[in-house]
Amino acid sequence: MDIECSKEEIKLFERIAASAGEMGVQCYLIGGFVRDKLLGRPTKDVDVVCQGDGIRLAHLVAASLPHNPQVNFFKNFGTAQFRHHGFDVEFVGARKESYSSDSRKPQVEAGTIEDDQLRRDFTINALAISLNKEDYGKLIDPFNGVNDLQQKIIRTPLDPDVTFSDDPLRMMRAIRFATQLDFTIIDEVFDAIGRNKGRLKIISQERITDELNKIMLADKPSVGLDLLYRSGLLREFFPQLTDLTGVEIIEGKGHKDNFYHTLQVVDNTAAKSSDLWLRWAALLHDIAKPATKRFEEGHGWTFHGHEVVGERMVPKIFKQLKLPLHEKMKYVAKLVSLHLRPISLTKEDITDSAMRRLLFDAGEDLEDLMILCESDITSKNKLKVKRYLENFGFVKQRLKEVEEKDSIRNWQPPISGDDIMQIFNLSPSREVGVLKTAVRDAILDGLIPNTHDAAYRLLLEKAGEMNLKPVN
Ligand code: ATP
Ligand code: MG
Repeated sequence: MDIECSKEEIKLFERIAASAGEMGVQCYLIGGFVRDKLLGRPTKDVDVVCQGDGIRLAHLVAASLPHNPQVNFFKNFGTAQFRHHGFDVEFVGARKESYSSDSRKPQVEAGTIEDDQLRRDFTINALAISLNKEDYGKLIDPFNGVNDLQQKIIRTPLDPDVTFSDDPLRMMRAIRFATQLDFTIIDEVFDAIGRNKGRLKIISQERITDELNKIMLADKPSVGLDLLYRSGLLREFFPQLTDLTGVEIIEGKGHKDNFYHTLQVVDNTAAKSSDLWLRWAALLHDIAKPATKRFEEGHGWTFHGHEVVGERMVPKIFKQLKLPLHEKMKYVAKLVSLHLRPISLTKEDITDSAMRRLLFDAGEDLEDLMILCESDITSKNKLKVKRYLENFGFVKQRLKEVEEKDSIRNWQPPISGDDIMQIFNLSPSREVGVLKTAVRDAILDGLIPNTHDAAYRLLLEKAGEMNLKPVN
């Protein structure tokens, strides 16, 4: 395997080598940078390890660079970092680690490059390239990491039970790398994840979710989600998702395995969009199916209202997983609540008013909703999928036509909630909502024209029925 470096990179490495030479310390490129270079993956994170004071080395290198980048450093961890031409360059002193069982914070002491490679999580992450005069550019590969890169396997330098028990986050990392790189976790390592899954509880949810999001952003998130499920890790932090697994059969009738259906929907979505939150909407679109599942005699399985219950589950899940609780959460909840609407419009005889309602409700998220809904069309029966997709194409076309005619997506009704409060001297209340919806629906349904006068007349009529009078 060969490494290709840009002129910028070569210049930077020569600077690092020169400064390490001045300090009289041995120094190496290591970790993700070497791995990704060998794989030919683009990488902007340069990891450097030296047998000595990494923080001092970072300062020396920074001072020797023309633009004198500012060095950020953490004395406690012995790490330092600066940015250089879009690269994130990180320095650390080579170290030896020993762990106690109740924390993932190890006892750390200075060590050799061999010690440092031994503390790395996987063989493919333990590769080093010398920046020393005597063997500049030499690959140092004590655990056959290059071989594992070629075989596309994930293996630990140490006994995997020790590796995972010492720092359980590595179990998430193993699955994340397998997903991102399309590598296989060898059986011995995968089995060790199953045995050590309970250790995940000493890891903060933020770090777990960080890895989960990297899995969600991979080309095929289902690879990692399935590994998380099969190893038992998923149940440790996200039981609502594992509750989707399994098929129940009554009177000879089964339903889809909603977990594997969901994984397919996530992959379908990922093929069309790299947006993390749209992928999250795909992951959660059927999350309330277990809670709403019923068997109706003579009919079969139903999941009535799962989109409504699912919408309500989103905030709880976001909180539990320490995901952001503002717009992104609202966006995911909205898509979950609307995910059945476009497909319901594939029936015949759908009115323009039903189209207008969806355009209004989805608003700026219509394209994303259509991606989600189209991705939700999965079946083993290829003909069925083809027919659904065709019908779905018609819906898309009609939505486009109705939008061109009526411009509903950015439309606001001619009378707002504020107007209603002023007209009847009301404070925010249920009545205001009822009146606002009545006006809006009448226009969307084409019962009255989209004008202020018509809306006002209807408003007075509805308000009269509720014994409300305008104040002047
Ligand atoms: P990426 O940057 O894509 O997340 P990476 O392998 O570079 O992948 P980093 O978190 O940047 O991951 O870490 C850099 C290197 O530090 C890794 O390649 C690995 O050698 C080492 N490392 C990181 N986290 C751990 C850990 N939890 N246990 C052991 N070694 C680790
Ligand atoms: Mg990295």
